[in-house]
Amino acid sequence: MKYLLIVILSFCSVFAYSQDNLSYTKEDFLRGSITPEREWWDLNYYHLDIEVKPDLKFISGTNTIRYKVLKEHDLMQIDLQAPMQIEKVVSDGKELTFKSSGNVHLILLSKKQVKGDFNEITIHYSGNPKEAVRAPWDGGFSWKKDSKGSHFIATSCQSLGASVWWPNKDHMYDEVDSMAISVKVPKDLMNVSNGRLRSVDEDANTKTYHWYVDSPINNYGVNVNIGDYVHFGEKYKGENGDLDLDYYVLPENLEKAKEQFKQTGQMMDAFEHWFGPYPFYKDGFKLVEVPYLGMEHQSSVTYGNGYQNGYKGMDLSDSGWGLKFDFIIIHEAGHEWFANSITYKDIADMWIHEGFTAYSENLYLDYHFGKEASADYVIGTRKRIQNDKPIIGRYNLNKKGSNDMYYKGANILHTLRQLIEDDEKWRKILRNMNKTFYHQTVTTAQIENFLSMESGIDLTAFFEQYLRTSMIPTLEYKLEGKNLKYRYTNVVEDFDMPVEMTIGDKNQWIYPTSDWKTEKVNSSTLNVDRDFYIDSKIIK
Ligand SMILES: [Zn+2]
Repeated sequence: MKYLLIVILSFCSVFAYSQDNLSYTKEDFLRGSITPEREWWDLNYYHLDIEVKPDLKFISGTNTIRYKVLKEHDLMQIDLQAPMQIEKVVSDGKELTFKSSGNVHLILLSKKQVKGDFNEITIHYSGNPKEAVRAPWDGGFSWKKDSKGSHFIATSCQSLGASVWWPNKDHMYDEVDSMAISVKVPKDLMNVSNGRLRSVDEDANTKTYHWYVDSPINNYGVNVNIGDYVHFGEKYKGENGDLDLDYYVLPENLEKAKEQFKQTGQMMDAFEHWFGPYPFYKDGFKLVEVPYLGMEHQSSVTYGNGYQNGYKGMDLSDSGWGLKFDFIIIHEAGHEWFANSITYKDIADMWIHEGFTAYSENLYLDYHFGKEASADYVIGTRKRIQNDKPIIGRYNLNKKGSNDMYYKGANILHTLRQLIEDDEKWRKILRNMNKTFYHQTVTTAQIENFLSMESGIDLTAFFEQYLRTSMIPTLEYKLEGKNLKYRYTNVVEDFDMPVEMTIGDKNQWIYPTSDWKTEKVNSSTLNVDRDFYIDSKIIK
């Protein structure tokens, strides 16, 4: 048995490779790819059942994993990051053996795994989980106190992975279909997790909060938030009927929250209009105050923006419009459509979450303040684009691409809206995208093909340019008498995106490629439409 385990582990190391002068390790590959020890089983259900001891910064408990056998295999990869430790693994009342290599644990199953069967294992674990350094970006557990000295605790773990605090299949391609989360805390505190609160058990010193998520959920979306919370809520009349909006905040912020969280309904109005029904009616929607900025945790979006508009009070676009909404409410809730319902299979495709969600910020403005406001905002955010490297990261290694996935992503979609030239059609495409990929994990290729098909425009070169290079198309043009000459430079092969120009008082499409073209014009007043994310240069 031992021999087999060693063979598998060394087999995987073959896949370690180096790219762009960055070297990747066996651990990167085991963390970031669909290994043979992951692909044979399909996640069905988790019951994460833990106790959190704030004074000791310690957690312990179990995760029960129900899975469907897709093909015969006897080794199962489970991820749990040090210093957390697996104590034992149990299935059908029997303890199983396992071998650990760094954060990867290969469990040897004793029962024959028959294709189509549903089986369960329970992992017992404990430890002092990694403390968040700069939540939510460098996450883990945030062990904080509120102004009255009560514990105020939260988890965040995108990129790093949920295995930083609980054992699971830590790859995004396979979402669990439903999940129970039970969290025992000291009795003066409350735990808020994803989905709905089903029951609370109480003993002399503790309370256990039992939450249930009745939809597929991605690993990093699972969270615990522990504090001396007060609750208020409302019903939202949405496209799919009554939706419960629930809010959990510190008592000292109750009045401010009641005012600020009125934006939740306005957010739902805008996003249901543009993207279709909120994707988790069964689980409700929550905003939960936390001691860090915020995160898109599914059906329990976390909030720490200080009950003010903007991003910590700042307008990221400098257009003025960024102060018309609370960035964390709007942005993190936008992720319910793009991240939680439509989820990347591989973090290399994280732009699907952040590009569409950054774009949702200006569709919120579009809905409430009009098209000009929306354009001012998204164009205003261009100054944040670095063009340092491509938006798409490295596949199979848990490596994301450039942070340009946010505002370049938004500007790519704003440019695409111009190409479609029909806002109602564009809205239908976005709504249909949410229907087609509802509760699924997807790749960039799927999204690209979908947008090409739905728009009727071949977007191959468009996405190649904007997602896989860091070059920005440059439109060079010059006027020779009544002849406008123009071409693209800085473009990939076959890039031929049309652009609107104002020539005199007339709007007109031009069709540049990398070859010079000539067009007769009747005016020398030329302007390139600002809505297109390109550079333009007048050649003398
Ligand atoms: Zn985001």
